[in-house]
Amino acid sequence: MEEGPWRARTRYRSSRNARSPSVWRPRGAGCATHFRRPLERPFTAEERARVTILFGGLTWKHEELIRAVFQGCDYKCERLPVPDVPAFQIGKEYGNNGQCNPTYFTVGNLVQHLQSLEKSGVPRQQILDNYVFFTAGSCGPCRFGMYEAEYRFALKNAGFDGFRVLLFHDKDGLKAASGEPGLKFTVDFGLGMLNALHAGDVMNDIIYQIRPFEVHPGEADRVFQQAMVRLSTTLRERPPFEIMQRAPQWLQRRLATRKTLRNTLNTLGKIREHQFGDVYVDTLAECREMLNAIEVDRTKVKPIVKITGEFWAQTTEGDGNFNMFAFLEREGAQVLVEPIATWVAYLLYQGKAHAKAKWPVTRPHQYPKWWELKKHFANQMPLRKKLALIGVGETLWYYFYHRVIRHLGGITHPLAPQAELAELAHPFYNQYARGGEGHLEVGKNIYYTVHHLCHMVLALKPFGCMPSSQSDGVQSAVINKFRDMIFLPIETSGEGEVNAHSRVQMALGDAKAKAKAEFEEALRSTGKRLEDIKDYVAAHPELRRPFYHVPHRPSVAGTAAQFILHVSDRMDASHRFWRRSRVTGITVPESA
Ligand code: SF4
Repeated sequence: MEEGPWRARTRYRSSRNARSPSVWRPRGAGCATHFRRPLERPFTAEERARVTILFGGLTWKHEELIRAVFQGCDYKCERLPVPDVPAFQIGKEYGNNGQCNPTYFTVGNLVQHLQSLEKSGVPRQQILDNYVFFTAGSCGPCRFGMYEAEYRFALKNAGFDGFRVLLFHDKDGLKAASGEPGLKFTVDFGLGMLNALHAGDVMNDIIYQIRPFEVHPGEADRVFQQAMVRLSTTLRERPPFEIMQRAPQWLQRRLATRKTLRNTLNTLGKIREHQFGDVYVDTLAECREMLNAIEVDRTKVKPIVKITGEFWAQTTEGDGNFNMFAFLEREGAQVLVEPIATWVAYLLYQGKAHAKAKWPVTRPHQYPKWWELKKHFANQMPLRKKLALIGVGETLWYYFYHRVIRHLGGITHPLAPQAELAELAHPFYNQYARGGEGHLEVGKNIYYTVHHLCHMVLALKPFGCMPSSQSDGVQSAVINKFRDMIFLPIETSGEGEVNAHSRVQMALGDAKAKAKAEFEEALRSTGKRLEDIKDYVAAHPELRRPFYHVPHRPSVAGTAAQFILHVSDRMDASHRFWRRSRVTGITVPESA
């Protein structure tokens, strides 16, 4: 007789250990085995001279500087090309269904690169042995947690089973996926990466601020390339600080037998050298001078478009976001890019906020009496320690980032304050809802609008991105509250570029009108003709330099409007000066 489902279930349950979870399985399905992360060949220290580390996914500016740091620490390292549509299609072909498109773009890009190596004559086994992929990993909560498994799955399907994927995980530090750490997180490596990220962010911001206003087409890109080469050469070739080489003889003799003191002084010396040393500071000054030689005309009226959205889609500069930055510039906009530093600041801020929120349940003593001081102390100490440590990290992160801004001309936008972003977003998006950019998309949209820092906000997010879809869900409520906001969300994918560009064009029309009206109002308030202002600028070469400092006016967003208001003030001031300093002529008597 055929066994019914009830009988099968009863028979199955009775055969199981009473403590195992009560899950019904069809007859013959057997016991499921728990998923274990596949063991991989370790990337060992001995392999460093032979193995090339491949990486990608950021802007070319960040990647150039990161590669320089890897090479400066004696690693062989190459950037992957910017992912394009064929890479996306390869990713879809070899990957699982229903993944986020950054996975398809990045893994497809990797497979495409490995295939091109193979086509150029490198045997497959040699590719498996001599190359590794270095990428960021996470435990979620969105599909980011599955990226690592997806990379392996697609690589296996493409015939590169056993290709090693190294993860940078916020909890584990830099380690190979299994076994020995092949990437050593040394002080030089960590500080070099810090400089690379900060300088990459600031340089990326600078080029988007200068290029729209360049007087000679192509000059900004040409000079910028030279500055990038100068910067990356320094990060690659700067000699590491070693206390036993720099200290005087008498100190070297003393340190030779004191390991702890030697290591401490060596670390402090490295921090000083990396952050304040002449080699780095002089290079920043040299880059600043090079860029400051570009001639700009800041009387051109351009709408400022603030880019927000999902991390990868808002960062990449290729097909992954429909080449949106280049398109916006062609359409006459000034792009305000998002620095990676904001993301790190967000993680630090969230670390503190979550520690505080969890404290009522994680404290060791739940309800101590008021006189039980020891228990109060025991409750407070772990929290205070954690907050202090993260607070120190946060302060240093902001300090070093803004220091690079000062050394590179001072025109880069400072990091948006995380507490304010969370506060602005919180009525619409709970700051404790993690995943993707969390509340940042909503917070930035409001922050940049209410502070008049842009004319339009463009949110770029991959099709089907879980946290970004949540943000979009509440953005309509946000727009209803802030009526003058121009906000456009664009879902990126491997296709649909024309459609996306035409939607952006429409919203940009409104932003252009807003920027033009603001400029005309500013000009009217000066009481001057634009030609007179332009003549004054022509007569004062410093006003045609990109790093000339224009003070920010709180209620004006546009670069051109800010600029003419400032020039007008200067014209008035010099007019007053000449009036005051004019010597009264001596009246000559007629009889003389
Ligand atoms: S943030 Fe969005 S696109 Fe990125 S991994 Fe998560 S769900 Fe995917």
